[in-house]
Amino acid sequence: MMLNTLISWVNTNSHSSHLEGIEKMRALLKDSFSRLNGDIEEISLPPYKKITSRGVFEEVEVGKALRITKRREAPFQVFLGGHMDTVYTKEDPFQKARFENETLLIGPGAADMKGGLLVMLEALLKFEKHPLSQKIGWEIFINTDEEIGSPSSRFYFEKVAKQFEVALLFEPGFPDGAIAEKRKGSLNIYAIAHGKTAHVGRDFEKGKNAIGIICNFATEIQKLLSLEKGIQLNLGSIQGGGPLNVIPDLAILGLNGRVETLEELNLLKEAFNRFTSHELSFFEVSIRPPKGSNHFFELLKKVASQIGEPLILRETGGTCDGNLLESFGLPSIDALGPIGGHLHTEHEYLDITSLEKRINLTTHLLMELAQGAL
Ligand SMILES: [Zn+2]
Repeated sequence: MMLNTLISWVNTNSHSSHLEGIEKMRALLKDSFSRLNGDIEEISLPPYKKITSRGVFEEVEVGKALRITKRREAPFQVFLGGHMDTVYTKEDPFQKARFENETLLIGPGAADMKGGLLVMLEALLKFEKHPLSQKIGWEIFINTDEEIGSPSSRFYFEKVAKQFEVALLFEPGFPDGAIAEKRKGSLNIYAIAHGKTAHVGRDFEKGKNAIGIICNFATEIQKLLSLEKGIQLNLGSIQGGGPLNVIPDLAILGLNGRVETLEELNLLKEAFNRFTSHELSFFEVSIRPPKGSNHFFELLKKVASQIGEPLILRETGGTCDGNLLESFGLPSIDALGPIGGHLHTEHEYLDITSLEKRINLTTHLLMELAQGAL
């Protein structure tokens, strides 16, 4: 029953930009999560800004998020977060779940994070049966733009962060079972070079080559940042140019920076500022500050040892909405989902045997929170 639900979720394509798929997914989730008897609402998210390959800004709609709340009048409030979107487009050949063997389910979003949503649901169902559940209130918030950096739902996180004591998120655990504790910060940004077009044969000296501007910039910023050990900068995409006898007037370079500290994040932003000119501008797509540990990990350790679950905590370069929530002042434990691997590839898998274990861990964590809230 539990696995059938998960398979129906996995088989429903819900790429962040596939709004029809997101709608179907949301309907399935609404149906499953109605078992919690909470108040269910759809939450509209504002559109986000995107830059096209022609250098034009466009507003992009994202699907509505799903919110389910219960006992919001209780003094101790827990935020349970997840995302229904995945990275697999509706054209991707990877669309369906299949069993690799008795323990592995392969499928788009099987672990990241439809499996995580299942853990959230089942843990809450168990928790709600316990008398302690009456002591705390909770909100489930499932967004639709996490995989593109939450450009639309970050506003919601900022708005509500202060209303909760702790956030539990259900990103997958590592293949060895480890749970992410500290996370790097991440910045997605586009550098846009504005040149001047001209015919190569007739007016070469009248042109200004935008690809040349971008190449110089890429070399210079990498040189500059190579001195800052904690900062990683990936030149992720490049667009521009056309016929080879025309000097291109536009080139766009997409970059992803990863940092360990807030200082490094500021250094990175300053570095971009330094290169800003009439020929070169920047467009920040999404930002997630680095995330440290918090005192709720002590509670998690205690709960894990009580139920005899080995617990490995790890630092990771990957980011998630836990980074955002924590930056808005809400302490987060964000990798309570099941064990999975090869995320964001056609080999994404979920370790089915980890589902029960993670459900149990979260149920007990909720009980411990409720006990503490007495
Ligand atoms: Zn995820």
